[in-house]
Amino acid sequence: MTDGKPSFGKRNKRTHVLCRRCGKHAMHHTDKICAACGFGKSKRIRKYNWQTKTGMSAPQRK
Ligand SMILES: [Zn+2]
Repeated sequence: MTDGKPSFGKRNKRTHVLCRRCGKHAMHHTDKICAACGFGKSKRIRKYNWQTKTGMSAPQRK
């Protein structure tokens, strides 16, 4: 099994499209839910504490 360059040709299913809120290519084409910011799922931006090194809600600079 190879997951290298030859298998990229099989990627033609377009599961995610550009999100109009966060601009990332993470909006699910059929679910209409952005995997990156949660658009379509919640009004608030999808955000988790584990996204930052500190585990705090707001990213802190030392
Ligand atoms: Zn988004």
